[in-house]
Amino acid sequence: MIDGHSCPGRLIVVEGIDGSGKSTQIELLENYLRLKGFGVLRNSWNSSQEISPIIKKAKKKQMLTPYGFSLLHAADFSYRYTHEIIPALNAGKIVLSDRYVYTAIARDCARGIPRDWLMNNFRFAIRPDLTFFFRVDPGLAYDRITQVRDIKYYEAGLDMELSANPRESYVLFQSRVLEGYENLAKELGFSVLDGSRPVEETQKIMRKVVNPLIQSML
Ligand code: ADP
Repeated sequence: MIDGHSCPGRLIVVEGIDGSGKSTQIELLENYLRLKGFGVLRNSWNSSQEISPIIKKAKKKQMLTPYGFSLLHAADFSYRYTHEIIPALNAGKIVLSDRYVYTAIARDCARGIPRDWLMNNFRFAIRPDLTFFFRVDPGLAYDRITQVRDIKYYEAGLDMELSANPRESYVLFQSRVLEGYENLAKELGFSVLDGSRPVEETQKIMRKVVNPLIQSML
């Protein structure tokens, strides 16, 4: 991973398991930054025009091996990195990235892929200026998600055959992912948030952490 960058923009990342509250918080942060007059690009995982439709089709067929899953998501990231993230940083925007390479590292590691191999695949990516990690109990995250929609096959890690019960599988699989995140957070100094706290309380903390970073752009 490339340490530091000389772009006029700033890269802020949110990471955590599904249902930890990332999207909710990033939307509030985007509103805050826009009101302050900053140009913002919000970028989401698995959203490139080129690769994302292929991933969606393959997921539907439940035909992805761990390496297939990993490589397709890496291709999606690489596309967005080159065509969306870097140009926005060069244009002086604040890029809010809903997941970054750490998602791939934590999640694909949980699928048994060697960490060194993953780190090497993403060595081209710059280190974000700020990475928030939402720590939340997988059981709570599952309950939050299933209040609004069905849990998805890969999200629950059902391909890993840890359990046939979706909730049990989700908790077992996402606990592994969480462990990967915990290691990365320690190694790379993520800003750790308690994802079980009320939305407004967490947003307040995030804005406090973000303020010095945006001050450095003025
Ligand atoms: P993620 O992007 O990490 O998957 P979301 O922001 O989509 O998570 O949140 C998942 C669900 O949990 C949503 O229905 C959202 O409204 C709810 N939610 C998010 N943050 C909180 C919170 N702090 N307390 C309670 N519910 C929350």
